[in-house]
Amino acid sequence: MFYNFNLAGGSVWIRRPFSWGARMNLFYSNKKLKKDGIFKWSLPAGLVDQGGTCIGAGACLKFCMFKKIYKFRGPRCIGAHKRNLELARSPWFADICIYELQARRVIKRLRVHDSGDYFDQDYVQAWARIAQAVPRVFFYSYSKSAGGLDLDPLRSLHNYRVIESVGGRWPVDRRRVHSIVLPRGADRIPAGYADGSVSDLVALNSKRIALKRI
Ligand code: SF4
Repeated sequence: MFYNFNLAGGSVWIRRPFSWGARMNLFYSNKKLKKDGIFKWSLPAGLVDQGGTCIGAGACLKFCMFKKIYKFRGPRCIGAHKRNLELARSPWFADICIYELQARRVIKRLRVHDSGDYFDQDYVQAWARIAQAVPRVFFYSYSKSAGGLDLDPLRSLHNYRVIESVGGRWPVDRRRVHSIVLPRGADRIPAGYADGSVSDLVALNSKRIALKRI
């Protein structure tokens, strides 16, 4: 099966990647993000040697909500995340994302990773290329990969925001945009932090974000 993509340099035919199936939409939403018109892109959560993409995972592994989600929703959810990873490693990844974002004008905000993380520098560069090609979309990510990869190509873009998350294997520079996860049961948001638990819009414009543990 081949798909026709109208890319910047003209129209090209690209073979449907591997096990990607007939599905064409890469970007979806969920209950929390949908009300704010935010779409998302997901990769497998967890350590790399266990099939995940979270090169900076640390203490967060204990409270990662995707452990629960994978258990609850099972192979269907894991399979979808694995297919996304397969595509993310393919040479067509950036072009296919650009094609979808240009075609689906309803997508104005994209959370890159509601699960998983930036796993290598080529993948970071692919997102920088995607964001540059679709400047009307605002991209953002919570990430624990900043200690292992150069995320400046994303930070330097006017339509991309990287929020470093505390709880990984590398320390976070708290002078930068960052997020913390509150201990279970804590409902008081620390002074200077915005509560990002109810709406992800907070992630778009706050410098310090506190998330309550689910
Ligand atoms: S980095 Fe995020 S998605 Fe990955 S294991 Fe930690 S909490 Fe889960």
